[in-house]
Amino acid sequence: KEELIRKSEKLSVVGELACAVAHEVRNPLTSLKGFIQLLQYKNINNEDQDKHYYDIMLTEIERINLIVSEFMMLSRPQAITYQNKNVVSLLVDVITLLETIAIMKNIEVTREFESNISLVKCEGNQIKQVFINIFKNAIEAVPNNGKIHIKVEKWKNNRICISFSDNGNGIPNDLIGRLGEPFYTTKEKGTGLGLMVCYKIIEEHGGRINIKSEMNQGTTVDIIFPISIDE
Ligand code: ADP
Ligand code: MG
Repeated sequence: KEELIRKSEKLSVVGELACAVAHEVRNPLTSLKGFIQLLQYKNINNEDQDKHYYDIMLTEIERINLIVSEFMMLSRPQAITYQNKNVVSLLVDVITLLETIAIMKNIEVTREFESNISLVKCEGNQIKQVFINIFKNAIEAVPNNGKIHIKVEKWKNNRICISFSDNGNGIPNDLIGRLGEPFYTTKEKGTGLGLMVCYKIIEEHGGRINIKSEMNQGTTVDIIFPISIDE
């Protein structure tokens, strides 16, 4: 069964305070990492067991770092400038960036662009971040030799829809409502922050995200933006 969701409200859970905390956590982490590396280097002749402990400590610090960076993306830059940008070319930049990872997994990435130009009032880096997070999820969801289809469609009422479809494992119906919840992840190395960041950014741009999924068939994520009228 297919389920359609539309969501944008969950985001207020994480406020600006969380972001300030994230900033503060960064510095001591960097220093911890440095000292562990120093110890590792000083004790280079130590037993294998110790080496293993250092590796674990560094891996765990990297993990905290990843969570902190995803949190920081939630912060609104002080003076955010929305400019008319061609979202399709932002999308192409991201595809070029991530296609290499897809190729390494033998994933077939196909494109179907109804239009190559669609001006949207936006903050380019934030929009790219949204495309990156969603494309990455698709790459992580499909098996080797999987397929990802990226489509650009103009919709009525001055809207554009950019969708990422994959033939991955899908999302169970009862869990689809939890997407975008902070720290909800089914991945061993996941943070469960990627979609939350996407919802927040797209909401701030006056757009929305729809996710459709069918178990063992795949998932489609639609990102819908209002197009600038003065295009
Ligand atoms: P993370 O990728 O770190 O787990 P996200 O917020 O990006 O965090 O995604 C949350 C969860 O949503 C994932 O752990 C996964 O279970 C599910 N998910 C997101 N995109 C897809 C997809 N394309 N196919 C299957 N599951 C997905
Ligand atoms: Mg993710």
